[in-house]
Amino acid sequence: MADCLFCRIVAGDIPAALIHQDDDLVAFNDIQPQAPLHVLIVPRRHIATVNDLTAPDEVLVGRMLRTASAIAQAHGHAGRGYRTVFNCNADAGQTVFHLHLHLLAGRGLGWPPG
Ligand code: AMP
Ligand code: ZN
Repeated sequence: MADCLFCRIVAGDIPAALIHQDDDLVAFNDIQPQAPLHVLIVPRRHIATVNDLTAPDEVLVGRMLRTASAIAQAHGHAGRGYRTVFNCNADAGQTVFHLHLHLLAGRGLGWPPG
């Protein structure tokens, strides 16, 4: 989608600090990090929200989580722990309507979240 920020990052039209790329996914540092490690894992294909996932996307979502785990491990955070979050729509504070998985690590993360 031409007017989608993350589609433009995936296409290389807007720069981002890339952490990982493969045929289906791109991961890059969040521009406003909320933890020492804050990475967004996004599918190359435009999917607006978690509500828009369909059964064939189940493998893709699993790969998003496994990619988050691999990045956390590569940065030395697997043992102490990390958080993965999908925000969906207004009450969760979703601001970019291209599916993305937040990976947060490197500090104690409070619960419940705000
Ligand atoms: P959400 O609130 O779940 O929709 O998360 C959107 C995230 O995208 C926020 O954490 C923003 O800081 C992040 N973000 C917005 N613009 C950019 C950008 N150009 N590059 C990297 N991250 C961004
Ligand atoms: Zn998009």
